[in-house]
Amino acid sequence: MKKLVLDLDETLIYSAMEPLDDDFIKLSAAGQTFYTKLRPGAKEFLEYVKRKFDVTIWTTGHQAYLESIWAYLDMPGFTLWGRDYCKRIQNPDKDCIEPYEKPLRQIIDDLTQIVIVDNTPSIFAKYPLNGILSRTWRGEMDDTELTHLSYYLGWLEKQPSMQRDHQAWRLETLCIRSK
Ligand SMILES: [Mg+2]
Repeated sequence: MKKLVLDLDETLIYSAMEPLDDDFIKLSAAGQTFYTKLRPGAKEFLEYVKRKFDVTIWTTGHQAYLESIWAYLDMPGFTLWGRDYCKRIQNPDKDCIEPYEKPLRQIIDDLTQIVIVDNTPSIFAKYPLNGILSRTWRGEMDDTELTHLSYYLGWLEKQPSMQRDHQAWRLETLCIRSK
């Protein structure tokens, strides 16, 4: 089975210290309370990709935070990796939002068989042919990114190599869907 890495914050969910609307649910991890909201279509998206890929949810956040969100979601069958699996970037440049990378070879050596979805491009800067950039999501309910992504990933999974220039993935998804 091919491998898929999914980022958590601002890709699948949005978390805040205070609820920004009624859709936020209250959770806690390591004694800290926080509020989380699921991106539209997140559960359906996760069920879909789980049938096609070996999926790792990989966050630069802490393991306890990730596990508390996943306990709420109650969706088995995903590998959960927190910050301890990330690599700290030495001397990040000043516009680098998160000083971490996610070294994909920790999952598989053959980079044709793995792809990562993340809203932070520096996370996959060393793997330009493996990274699919998703729009940063901060709670907007008219968002359709995950629905589009499931079409693209469904198509991509059938390709012998998943390494390619993914920059135009949204446009290509429109072509895939119209066929
Ligand atoms: Mg993120």
